Amino acid sequence: MYQTKAEHVLNFTVVGGSIGGLSAAYCIHQAGHNVMVLEKHDMAVFKSQAGSDLRVPPNMTRLLGEFPGTEELLHKCASIIPGHIFIEGSEPVGKMTYKEEMFADLGAGFYRMPYVDLWSHLYSLCSSSNIECRFNSQVTEVIIGDSSAGVSVVLDTGEHIHGDIVIGADGHNSVVRRTILENQQEDPQDDAGERSTPTNLSNVHEWITCRLSIPQLEIGKDPELQSLIENDWWTVWLSCGLFYNASREGNEYYGLNIFYPFRQFQVDDMDWNVKQTCLSPEELQSTEGEPRLKKLLSLASSCHRVNQTNYNLKVFTNKTMQLIIIGDAAHAAIMNGVHNAAIAVEDAYALGFLFSKVSDQHQVPLFLKGYNEIRQKRTKMIRESDSGVLTVHTLPPGVAHDARNEIFKKTLEKEDDEYDDIYSQIIQDYITQCNYDSKDAIEEWWHNWGRLI
Ligand SMILES: Cc1cc2nc3c(=O)[nH]c(=O)nc-3n(C[C@H](O)[C@H](O)[C@H](O)COP(=O)(O)OP(=O)(O)OC[C@H]3O[C@@H](n4cnc5c(N)ncnc54)[C@H](O)[C@@H]3O)c2cc1C
Repeated sequence: MYQTKAEHVLNFTVVGGSIGGLSAAYCIHQAGHNVMVLEKHDMAVFKSQAGSDLRVPPNMTRLLGEFPGTEELLHKCASIIPGHIFIEGSEPVGKMTYKEEMFADLGAGFYRMPYVDLWSHLYSLCSSSNIECRFNSQVTEVIIGDSSAGVSVVLDTGEHIHGDIVIGADGHNSVVRRTILENQQEDPQDDAGERSTPTNLSNVHEWITCRLSIPQLEIGKDPELQSLIENDWWTVWLSCGLFYNASREGNEYYGLNIFYPFRQFQVDDMDWNVKQTCLSPEELQSTEGEPRLKKLLSLASSCHRVNQTNYNLKVFTNKTMQLIIIGDAAHAAIMNGVHNAAIAVEDAYALGFLFSKVSDQHQVPLFLKGYNEIRQKRTKMIRESDSGVLTVHTLPPGVAHDARNEIFKKTLEKEDDEYDDIYSQIIQDYITQCNYDSKDAIEEWWHNWGRLI
């Protein structure tokens, strides 16, 4: 995976055993270090995630190619996304076809893959590398000594686990991020976060995403819904102040995601795949105007909802460079979005690369400065792109809304190969995000700066 192995071996504790945690554990181990993963859930929680898909955009496909067995995994478990149909009310207003040449140019495909398949693959890579993964191990506290004394995590059983570096891959309510922020607050000079990044679109700081799984068997019984499960296209329902996207996920389920910018409802986070639909009356009301959505919600068999805050962190490490956060703990990429899993794998790969170069403990802070610099730039790209998606898909009636629909409309009026210019307006940002090459970015940094350290 990496050309070098570390000459100075460190002990890492990874908090969180989902996509980010397992990717990081594998990459860091490949770089030559000792790693232990601590995960609060039982392994059964991960194995029972049937009917819940991750999106694997080209930037992630390319990186997964660095992990053994990915080609077979994609071949066996992933499906290709052909494109999006945009609907307003119940009428189609536009479409976006993912043309083959587009991905040929990017050198990697855009897939969707069941969460359980990617998780199981990463877990088996970790197991076969003898990485210890401890389930039912919830971290409640992180204790930082001085940099030579190392860092400890405390489990809910009271057990202390000691190491050199802790990687927080513990998701959007991260305990490790909380520790980093608490330490930074002690120093009023240190500006931990940046509340707004100027863009040409309004910045969205908080939102809710909600994911429902609907058995295809039930959908197939309703003639009005049947067409939704006849292909793999994403259907995107545009609405004022919220939007939905949905598609077939494997052969059993249809996944429906609802995105509400600006936390418009007072609702709590839920665990993954809660075996009932727990939408509030206000959320249920949000489907007014499209009878198919109302029906889909009533057929859902499981649900997950999360409130996300755009933390806008300037750094993903603490001052002593013993704590690092990755994935959802660091970035708040939209859950169920294009890049939430991708950015976690990008972080993991970059960390592994840097730590494969360590020949002396004193280099660690300098390497992590590089990590912060590279990942901060990338996070900013994703943040702006996600903010753009939330804004454009939820426009209220007005000039911007009409301009969006005017562009979309042209895609319905012409054949796919006639509208390259229209596409370039709609999809340019998408392509830029998917074209990002995490491997190139880290190698370039190393070439320019790392070799001098
Ligand atoms: C079971 C599960 C199913 C998912 N299914 C989908 C899906 O279908 N589609 C989608 O887009 N995204 C899904 N996600 C989210 C997706 O994995 C992430 O958005 C993305 O991959 C980034 O991953 P992450 O590892 O940074 O964060 P997460 O996937 O959120 O993982 C964080 C992990 O840390 C663990 N953890 C949290 N706090 C502690 C603690 N104090 N001590 C120990 N462990 C802790 C959590 O249990 C979790 O396993 C799922 C996540 C999980 C956990």
